[in-house]
Amino acid sequence: MKPVAEEIPNHHWADNAADELIQKKPDQDTFVCASGISPSGMVHIGNFREVITVDFVVRALKSRGKKTRFLYSWDDYDAFRKVPANLPNKELLEKNLRRPISDVPDVFGKEVSYAAYFEKQFESELAPMGIQPGYLYQNQAYKACRYAEGIRTALENQPKIVEILNAARTEPLPADWSCVSVFCSTCGKDATTVQAYKSPYTIEYSCKICKKQDSIQFDKQAGAKLLWRVDWPMRWAFEGVDFEPGGKDHSSMGGSYETGAKIVRAVWKKEPPFYVQYDFVLAKGLGAKLSSSSGNLITLGEAQSIYEPAVIRWIFASRKPNLDFTIAFDLDVIRTYDDFDRCERYAYAQEPGEPRKVSYEKRIYELACVEAPTSWTQMPQQFGFRHLCNQLQINEGSIEKTRVHYAIHTAVDEARFQQRAVRAWKWITEFAPEEFRFQVRNLNQPAPKTAHPAALRGVIDLLKQPGISKVAEDVLANSIYEIMKSNGLDAKRFFPEVYRALIGKPNGPKLASFLLAIGPERSIQLLESAL
Ligand SMILES: [Zn+2]
Repeated sequence: MKPVAEEIPNHHWADNAADELIQKKPDQDTFVCASGISPSGMVHIGNFREVITVDFVVRALKSRGKKTRFLYSWDDYDAFRKVPANLPNKELLEKNLRRPISDVPDVFGKEVSYAAYFEKQFESELAPMGIQPGYLYQNQAYKACRYAEGIRTALENQPKIVEILNAARTEPLPADWSCVSVFCSTCGKDATTVQAYKSPYTIEYSCKICKKQDSIQFDKQAGAKLLWRVDWPMRWAFEGVDFEPGGKDHSSMGGSYETGAKIVRAVWKKEPPFYVQYDFVLAKGLGAKLSSSSGNLITLGEAQSIYEPAVIRWIFASRKPNLDFTIAFDLDVIRTYDDFDRCERYAYAQEPGEPRKVSYEKRIYELACVEAPTSWTQMPQQFGFRHLCNQLQINEGSIEKTRVHYAIHTAVDEARFQQRAVRAWKWITEFAPEEFRFQVRNLNQPAPKTAHPAALRGVIDLLKQPGISKVAEDVLANSIYEIMKSNGLDAKRFFPEVYRALIGKPNGPKLASFLLAIGPERSIQLLESAL
């Protein structure tokens, strides 16, 4: 994972966006911030980037005393265009191509529709992130004819729309092009051709599948839908959207944002929303199982299994939206947690730094928190990820036994410990590289005998000294070094033997802290068995 950019900005980008929005409309009290996704398959962490981009701006507006409406639009009246890989019952899905995804059955048999399955999953993943948008289901809006006036306005202004779209195309649109697609009332598919528009609300169409002519009264009947490039600006106008980010695919020259901006001005006489482009998010270190099934695209839920909600928020808050990055599942997981913990220490003035850096880090931390802190007097307890991983492995994954090694005093810290410990163990067992994993040797198994008994005895005697468990790590490390020196040994020759006695492999976590983590008593037993 790329570190946070070296150059420290004066303000967080979300604060800049909020300032710009307010500057444009200083008297406006409530700002509408929107985001939307077509649930045509698994909703992944790249889609999450759009939602959290809006959430940051919503928080920045709120911190400036503004009210917000945070809309999350499920574009589930889109037609089902392609059967994604890795889904069961492909035949059933093939049969439902070109119907609205909210009318396609759920092949998992859990929800009312294919779209609802992916919607519910993502909504449940969003809940613990501290993100609470108002969900809008486009299939309901369209079926309730809520956009009848919008469709009518678009149809009446179609020549203007065609002109704008053609300016962004190399080939002009065909003469029979329509800004509306119709789902056939008989077969439910959008394999239709619009024959005529009869003002105000009638569309005549023919179906290529049913081979018949029909008509629709789109102020009273469901079935008509604006094409994406017209639908988007229509909804900006309908909801009065002030801010909406978009992915790279929508952001290019002549892309749907650019044409949408022109269309909303020309047809609905409104200004387009303030726009931020966001880039891709991939994962690395997934291991064979996950990466082969998803092609390095992960869901928010998969990220949540390794990262705490606040750490996920921090990963996004500490980066500019228009830069791509990867979410680590490999050894860099440790660094990510360490970087988050450091940011937290900056925020609570527990880490020295120049004032501008500290204030920038504090802002990132505020945006990262699921609920922003109300007081800055007491920093929550930190449980270093690497140390926690080692303790968990020493205790064979028992969170209860690991818990004993930490002095935890508050319910908040207890909850923090639990949520990090669960994730650390999941990471160790499913993603951590082999060299990071270990198991403390079982004393009932025969031990490999040491070639340097005198030195090993020296370490054992050292561990037997009273109060050794309270001694500082570097003091212990120094004493071990002295023992090696007096026996004419160096770490390269001696350490592998100690590690073999402890964990049955030639290397492991930093020795002095590791001996302390295992505890003098258990360490002595393990080392003595190698004599
Ligand atoms: Zn039909």
